[in-house]
Amino acid sequence: MKTKLFFYLLLIVFAGKSISATETVSGIGTYDNDNVFANILHGKLPAKVIFENDFVLAFEDIHPIKPVHILIIPKGQYRSLVDFSSKASDQEMVALLKATGVIAKAMGLNEKGFSLITNSGHDGGQTVPHLHFHLLGGEPVHWEKALRKNQVQYK
Ligand code: AMP
Repeated sequence: MKTKLFFYLLLIVFAGKSISATETVSGIGTYDNDNVFANILHGKLPAKVIFENDFVLAFEDIHPIKPVHILIIPKGQYRSLVDFSSKASDQEMVALLKATGVIAKAMGLNEKGFSLITNSGHDGGQTVPHLHFHLLGGEPVHWEKALRKNQVQYK
C-alpha cells in the first residue's frame, strides 16, 4: 500500500514538472527581436502560413485549443496592442483589421462565428512579446462564460 502511494506521488511530481507553464511577458518595453514570432517572420522558424501580405502574417498555432486556431500578427515590431495602436501607421492598422476579416471568412468561420482574442502583458497572460490575435473557431469558444463565476442575466 505504502509503495503504491509513493509511486503515485512520484508520478504526480514528474507529471507536474513536464507540464511547465510558459512564462508571461510584459506588453511594454523594448521589442525583443529574437522572440518566436520574429523568428517566424525572419524565416528562422517554420510555420504553417495561411495568409500573408506586406503588413500581416497569419499562421496556425502550434498548440491549437480549438479546431481552428490561427495567430494573426503585424509584420512590424510591436510588443502588444497598445504598442501597436500608439506607434503603427494607419496603413498597418487598417491592413491588420482587414486581413483578420478576410481570414475569418476564408476559414469558413463567418456563419457559425468565432472569437478574436489578444492577450496583453502579465495579467493578460501574454507569452510571446509580439502582438498577435488568436482567431478561434470551428466549435463554440465561449471563453467569457467559462471565466464567469456567476451567470449574468441581461435584461
Ligand atoms: P499568448 O500566450 O497569447 O502570448 O499566445 C502565444 C501563442 O503562441 C500560444 O497559443 C502558443 O501555442 C503559440 N506559439 C508559440 N510558439 C509557436 C510557434 N513556433 N508556432 C506557432 N505558434 C506558436
